[in-house]
Amino acid sequence: MIVGIDLGTTNSLIAVWKDGGPRLVPNALGSFLTPSVVGIDDDGRVLVGEAARERLQTHPQRTAALFKRHMGSARTSRLADRDYRPEELSALVLRSLKADAEAFLGQEVTEAVITVPAYFSDAQRKATRVAGELAGLKVERLLNEPTAAALAYGLHEGGSETQFLVFDLGGGTFDVSILEMFEGVMEVRASAGDNMLGGEDFTGLIVELAFSKGLPEKARHDAAFMQRLTARVEEAKRELGSQASTSFDVQWENHHATVSLDTDAFEKLCQPLLEKLWRPIERALRDARIRAADLNNVVLAGGATRMPMIRNLATRMFARFPVIGLNPDEVVALGAAVQAGLKMKDKALDETVMTDVCPYTLGTEIIKRLDNGRHADGFYAPIIQRNTVVPVSRVQRFYPVSPEQTSIRIEVYQGESRLVQDNIKLGSVSVAIQPGPRHSDGVDVRFTYDVNGLLEVEVSVVATGETRRVIIESGDAHMSPKEIAARLEALSALKIHPRDTLENRTLLARAERMYEQLLGDMREHVGQMILRFEQILATQDNQLIARDAERFRQALVAIESDSYFAPEPAP
Ligand code: AMP
Repeated sequence: MIVGIDLGTTNSLIAVWKDGGPRLVPNALGSFLTPSVVGIDDDGRVLVGEAARERLQTHPQRTAALFKRHMGSARTSRLADRDYRPEELSALVLRSLKADAEAFLGQEVTEAVITVPAYFSDAQRKATRVAGELAGLKVERLLNEPTAAALAYGLHEGGSETQFLVFDLGGGTFDVSILEMFEGVMEVRASAGDNMLGGEDFTGLIVELAFSKGLPEKARHDAAFMQRLTARVEEAKRELGSQASTSFDVQWENHHATVSLDTDAFEKLCQPLLEKLWRPIERALRDARIRAADLNNVVLAGGATRMPMIRNLATRMFARFPVIGLNPDEVVALGAAVQAGLKMKDKALDETVMTDVCPYTLGTEIIKRLDNGRHADGFYAPIIQRNTVVPVSRVQRFYPVSPEQTSIRIEVYQGESRLVQDNIKLGSVSVAIQPGPRHSDGVDVRFTYDVNGLLEVEVSVVATGETRRVIIESGDAHMSPKEIAARLEALSALKIHPRDTLENRTLLARAERMYEQLLGDMREHVGQMILRFEQILATQDNQLIARDAERFRQALVAIESDSYFAPEPAP
């Protein structure tokens, strides 16, 4: 069985191809969204998902989030007494999702299709593969997120020739892709994006509005307050999706602010963000050489496209209604499951072939001869152009600059700038060239970029046929097979909370977070409830635990909704 996984920055989802269609798999708490958060609890066991997310504030030294942003880099996070690479933290999330799917399907899961942002570099893709491997999953395919969204909507089943745009606004990133379906082949024609623009920026504007209404700057340093404020603002943002206006009160020490916002004022506030959406769209259309009017469909993905102002904007931009119907935060996972179905050669999907594009230009450094006869180095020679359909293989010939030269070094870069210093260096490979009559025949440099976004560089000396081949992986960030094996062993030794205890761990983590946020009698009351629930857990009487857990949960919900944003009782 191959599963489809959306390994997200804030949330991850897993789906399977079942009974002829994609199905989302619920986690141990019954939710389709598993927060991409990992923690180590006080007795050294790993917690993943909602329970870990609740502990972000109460146990920051033992909890990690947003590690997808560091995939492909060597940056580690310290949790309890050990450093974790982003691949390992992602692997723990993947493992938890795998366990959910195994419980749901009643069978072992060993293979997966995992989605990645279209802008992910080679190193980031490689790290995602390693994460899968560390979780005990063979990664059948890395699938670009926009392609997954299109698959979820079954656009690959559409008529003859269709072109569509995927508009994906998530929590922290904006991704635009143009896809084309032609004679049963789905192709990503272009992708562009802004990885500093997402739903969180809209939340941020309302937070700033609250500060402008009378909160002092020093309140920003109160982490518990900021978390509460952000949670309330998030709620207000969502309310503005279904009602014309919203209003809430905020209290910090003796400062008080009332925030009132209607949909028009919110849209006006967000104007600068809405304007930033244009550029990546224009660039993607230009790269794909398609006019907005020629698009057959516009697909929305990412939780932030639930905002009516985004839907209206997309409708205005493209002069057509976007296709909706699926939850935008679920479409990527559903599409990954469609791709998994495709891999399993399910009949319903037999016909479709998929292709993607290489999101960046890939090239090498060259030396140029100037008009005055001198040489200058540092110039970029693109070999594979951005948005070329993959798999692609391109060869270009390069010549030695001087007759004394005994080797040629090919430096591999990714990026769009004219000078290599402004691009990202991916690696290098050298070959020896022999002095003699054929010295100046030069070398053929072949770049091959595959569907998983891995780049192979092959350099062959024209005169001798001698060939050097490397798979490019970015510098220090890369883990050697030996290191992967060692990390695999270390991860296997970690104790993980069993699935069936996760619900109770989540309740306790939530209560502890509330204990930190509340003051006075309420705080004392929550403290007593925690103690009582811990004692009930110690009885190991499952019936008693289940009954009390429900009571505990309801009490927490009641306290949270009552005291949420009422001024705090004086100590
Ligand atoms: P994603 O990464 O796709 O899960 O998107 C997460 C982003 O979507 C966050 O910034 C959320 O605030 C935002 N989001 C989710 N649901 C809604 C909603 N109903 N209204 C407005 N924004 C939402």
